[in-house]
Amino acid sequence: MIQFSNWQVYSDLVHGFYLSKPKLTGLVKTNQTHGTKIAVIKRPIKRLTQPADGLITNLTGVNLMIRTADCLPIMLFDPKRKVVGLIHAGWRGTIGKIFIKAVLLMLTEFGSKIKDIQVGIGPHIQSCCYQAETVIQQFLPEWQPYLNQGRIDLSGFVTDELEQVGILKENIKVIDQCTGCSSLWPSYFKGSQKQFYSVIGLKHA
Ligand SMILES: [Zn+2]
Repeated sequence: MIQFSNWQVYSDLVHGFYLSKPKLTGLVKTNQTHGTKIAVIKRPIKRLTQPADGLITNLTGVNLMIRTADCLPIMLFDPKRKVVGLIHAGWRGTIGKIFIKAVLLMLTEFGSKIKDIQVGIGPHIQSCCYQAETVIQQFLPEWQPYLNQGRIDLSGFVTDELEQVGILKENIKVIDQCTGCSSLWPSYFKGSQKQFYSVIGLKHA
């Protein structure tokens, strides 16, 4: 399991990227469709019934979980208002800016201030390995500044977009491990069918 080292100071925060399913209580999973729907969880639930590629909650004891391989697992955390979010973003969700939608929901639903929001991007396929899958992708205007010889820098796009809405640069952390070329993480691009687990939640006081 790996974590963001700068988040280890928060004793009420649970977070990590796990190779096998973590033994934690209160896990709530996304119903991933490569869409941009986000479920805001304000009451305790056992499982999610609607499709959602993102989850946000301020409840303690609820551990949000997603499974990814090459897509971006994006964690959001407001240490002041005590809100956590977790987003699954492939290239479709990234173009649909699901992560910006999540930030805005933290402001409107929980009163977060943009300067307090911390963002962490976990292991994903990086520009060293992520060859645009389709010709369509290569011609999307959004990608043009992030394309290098047909390879897309997904987290570069995400971090620039987050900074444009006011997230502080120092509050964005990216785990610099590419699923495509690291031997640790599974990747479809390497022919693996496996996924790994990302979890974020708030502990009971
Ligand atoms: Zn790589």
